[in-house]
Amino acid sequence: MPNPCTIKTTCPYCGVGCGVEATLKDDRLIAVTGDKSHPANLGKLCVKGTALNETMGHHGRLLAPQIDGVEVDWPTAIDAVASKLTAIREQHGPNAIAFYLSGQLLTEDYYVANKLAKGFIGTANVDTNSRLCMSSAVAAYKRAFGNDLVPCSYEDIDHCELLILTGSNAAWTHPVLYQRMVAAKKQNPKMKIVVIDPRRTASCDIADLHLAIAPGSDGFIFSGLLNYLASYKKLDNQYISDHTQGFDAALDAAAELTIEAVVANTGVSEADIVTFYQWYADTANTISFYSMGINQSATGTDKCNAIINCHLATGRIGKIGAGPFSITGQPNAMGGREVGGLANILAAHMDYSPDNVALVSEFWQSDSVNTMPGLKAVDLFDAVATGKIKAIWIMGTNPVVSMPNADKVKAALENCDTVIVSDCVEETDTTATANILLPATGWGEKSGTVTNSERRISRQRSLEPAAGQAKDDWWILTSVAKKMGFDTSFSYQTAKDIFVEHAKLSGFKNNGSRFFDISGLANLSEQEYDLLKPIQWPVKDQSSNGVVRLFEDGIFNTDNGKANFISVKAVLPNSKLNRLWLNTGRLRDQWHTMTRTARAPRLLDHSDQPFASLNPTTAKQLDIQQDQLIQLSSKYGNALVIANIDSDIETAQVFAPIHWNDQFSGNARIDSLVAPITDPISGQPELKYTPIDITAVAAPKWASILTRRKINCDSFIYWSCSSLVQNSGYLYHVALEEDFDWQQYISANTSTTIAYDHFSNPLVGDERFICNNNQQLEMAIYCHRDKRQLPQRTWLKGLFEKSLLGTTHWSMLTGEEYQLRSTSKHICSCFKVSEDAIIKAINNGASTQQALGNELKCGTNCGSCIPELNELIRQHKNFEAA
Ligand code: SF4
Repeated sequence: MPNPCTIKTTCPYCGVGCGVEATLKDDRLIAVTGDKSHPANLGKLCVKGTALNETMGHHGRLLAPQIDGVEVDWPTAIDAVASKLTAIREQHGPNAIAFYLSGQLLTEDYYVANKLAKGFIGTANVDTNSRLCMSSAVAAYKRAFGNDLVPCSYEDIDHCELLILTGSNAAWTHPVLYQRMVAAKKQNPKMKIVVIDPRRTASCDIADLHLAIAPGSDGFIFSGLLNYLASYKKLDNQYISDHTQGFDAALDAAAELTIEAVVANTGVSEADIVTFYQWYADTANTISFYSMGINQSATGTDKCNAIINCHLATGRIGKIGAGPFSITGQPNAMGGREVGGLANILAAHMDYSPDNVALVSEFWQSDSVNTMPGLKAVDLFDAVATGKIKAIWIMGTNPVVSMPNADKVKAALENCDTVIVSDCVEETDTTATANILLPATGWGEKSGTVTNSERRISRQRSLEPAAGQAKDDWWILTSVAKKMGFDTSFSYQTAKDIFVEHAKLSGFKNNGSRFFDISGLANLSEQEYDLLKPIQWPVKDQSSNGVVRLFEDGIFNTDNGKANFISVKAVLPNSKLNRLWLNTGRLRDQWHTMTRTARAPRLLDHSDQPFASLNPTTAKQLDIQQDQLIQLSSKYGNALVIANIDSDIETAQVFAPIHWNDQFSGNARIDSLVAPITDPISGQPELKYTPIDITAVAAPKWASILTRRKINCDSFIYWSCSSLVQNSGYLYHVALEEDFDWQQYISANTSTTIAYDHFSNPLVGDERFICNNNQQLEMAIYCHRDKRQLPQRTWLKGLFEKSLLGTTHWSMLTGEEYQLRSTSKHICSCFKVSEDAIIKAINNGASTQQALGNELKCGTNCGSCIPELNELIRQHKNFEAA
């Protein structure tokens, strides 16, 4: 291998599944760029993808197995896991054991976990964090098409003329696909984009129409649309009659939804509803692109089917530029669906029919295969809480943060007999509850495949040696399986051995009965697997290039080949209406519970504290100011966050990101507030609608603390923390009482060799400490009653790079330097361009995105910040001069 060299791999974050070219020098990843040859992204990466090389390194990694907090070797750890599981299985039966898997696992890891759990231990209780992400979309596809089949491809975006983004802020959650939408619209100015979302999100930047619906009312829009299409004779009757069944009943169910009824239930103006319906009726090439905003609902499955019904009624499926397109959140949610990672699927897209159980038992050569669907995520953790489940093995996910009613999940795990966690990070809210910790390889170390939202299987390749004693998840599972006595069925030597078995199962006695069939990849050699190019399933023979679009022949995966219309009744959310309701979601630069993205400091320059956005009118009524500390509370829990006043949020709504947790803030696990209400069909929790209250919290003083080591935060009212480049230190933002004694805090919490210089102005509560050890800055504390007077993150971050000799020491203390700082956050994370600099450039005449790019470079790399640049242009452009 040349040095440096380039290896093609896949981004580990979202379901777009972008191809990455990784440059290695001396076995270390030094740079990443987008893979121009990968059809998912054609060379583009978003800001998270471009920072992947900054997330590597051993700091914070789980480097050795642990039992009850004590490091052990692998044989001891494997023996402990196997003997615990065996004992519980013998004493309480297989269903006393649960597995909670993750869309971050590779398909090979997922396959072995599923096979061991369902096929040999024989437990039904195997579910995955994908339950929280897209299980409603899966359930709806199964109801409509006979199986979990995503019909579209990303290239359809290039050909569509009406693109509906519903329950999706793609600009932040699937940025590279969003850039593809931007490019498609630029290419075809007649293309219309409609955003359906209660919130005005960054994706509205390209919208021709934004339907700001009442929360949870999406179903009314699409059932009303079906009714409208029938009323105005815009149906494709030939397609309905040739390729579908159940249309009359579905139309009957929607019959009450006149335009007036849709207006009354959604709160959208009649003019906007009619405009949307007319565009839909008149545009053959229509894509409905939907995501968590639809899925995470107590009626998510019905909402997905309401969307699919409209496509079936117009024959807009299996055609170029058209289709109902569920976009997955996680990198390998689709791979998990393929192997049977969800509790209601056995394996390879087969459910629990007796025939399927017999087929899988025959293929796996096991008489222990469980015969019934298991518990879905919320019920599964309830069973942990009641003690019905005695052992749970959690892999690559953080349910203490991400599950609804998260405090209950935390307590359930703390009280569970045996909690095994495989993870690559040592300290997470979930690893804190584990008896047995198993170090897993992370992205950049492991090797296997992932499947993205358009059914495209891509290779993720190992780039660096494993950290410490970390092992691939499939190796850990296989070792435990062998120790439990299942040796011959788990004799894999490499990830390729597992992949080809998975491919063989997909084709086993298939004969066209299951559309998921990758048997064409079942005979790959090690070298062919290594060189496997991205390919969309099904792949039935080795020479196939895969299938771009499903259902082009109008034949579906049902008994008679016809698609099912589903009769759905639109309803509003169950929860009792409150004055305020909580909508949760993701941020542009963070991913899940920040275990990876928080390792790249520049990804925190956009938002580095937990916050909640609320409308200015609501804030005024509650007497809440920008940046004030507030408590969000619900029946289930509470969280302390910073208020962000945002006129793009409607008055009853509060938006809070899901990412922060106990590793990064004192009390900011947002899902601890969320009710454990689930969709009755998919079991997906309603994460988008929780009645809450907000109260202001007194914070007499604020401080920013730069420190080489983590600090004790027990005496603060509030804290949040982020790490700095190469783990060179941490930056804390804290709120504290008026009489907080900093000198006592420093002597109690730092080494005795530390000396400090101190500045104080008691009139305004201004206190500063520059603590050093042998001329090296150890800690810098800036405290003030007025939070706005504190230095900003971007300035603070650079202090550790400065020498304490000469006048710098003094200027740090006096704040001479930070008076000159930029006071705003970074909008462009790629080129570190602040909001202040952008506004200044706009005021000086750079009033287009291109002009800003030319002057400051912002928006010229990944493009994730372009919606915000356009918003700043709209706000600050001097229109008279223009
Ligand atoms: Fe990764 Fe961004 Fe591509 Fe998603 S859009 S796969 S996060 S680079």
